[in-house]
Amino acid sequence: MAPTVYLLSRFAACALLLSACASSSPDATDHGASPKATNPAIAWVQTAAEYDAISRSVYRAAQDALPGKVADVSWSALPDQTDAGDLPAAVILDVDETVVSNAEFQSSFIPPFSDKKLDVWNRAHRAVPITGVVEFAKQARQLGVTLFFLTNRPCTASENDRCPQKTTVVQDIGEAGIPVSGEFVMLSAERPEWGKEKSVRRNYVARNYRVIMLIGDDLGDFIPCTRQNPVHPCTQGATVASRQAATLEYQEYWGNGWYILPNPMHGSWASVK
Ligand SMILES: [Mg+2]
Repeated sequence: MAPTVYLLSRFAACALLLSACASSSPDATDHGASPKATNPAIAWVQTAAEYDAISRSVYRAAQDALPGKVADVSWSALPDQTDAGDLPAAVILDVDETVVSNAEFQSSFIPPFSDKKLDVWNRAHRAVPITGVVEFAKQARQLGVTLFFLTNRPCTASENDRCPQKTTVVQDIGEAGIPVSGEFVMLSAERPEWGKEKSVRRNYVARNYRVIMLIGDDLGDFIPCTRQNPVHPCTQGATVASRQAATLEYQEYWGNGWYILPNPMHGSWASVK
């Protein structure tokens, strides 16, 4: 067979196979096909050694940079924080997909997503740490650095508990191997002024600490106003272009005080246009 004809016939066979696979995928899902077959982003996080290798690389780079950032009292990872040399050093970490992995929840919950479903799932499952975070946390604390955990899991007050979700988050971080008390864990809506925009809570930490590092999996863990739907104090929604411009604007921080982990499963990136 001539090479061109051979390639064309191979292409036709593949196209037929692909359409057969595509038309059968809903049934496969209904019969409990593995996430690998239905959502490559979740499958990658759950099974790819590459994901573990990247996470370990990110945390190792952050860990190696700790002594220098502690020693350099002129340094802050918050662009607006100045004259903080007299304050104790702190690192701000996000929680989900930064400290604990919720990939198993992502592969098993029945849409639509709700914070309540995640809270119920987290109460029922032992938290799994992101590769590298436990070693990083240990080293940071040995150097006298305070760790703060900022999550957008929200507080929903019940009759006798202002924030029952906080217990879940504190437990999750502890289960992952980083014991922490509630004063260092900050949920959205825990205070009236703490909305989903994390820069408000970062600035709160900065009143009493020199923030030497930010670690997260979402642009919002680093840069203000990265969400499609702006929340106070942001007034404009983000776009693909505005997020890329902001990432470039702050380029000096990436890998230098700011450490970002991959999350192809969800995030503020997913809704912007
Ligand atoms: Mg996260």
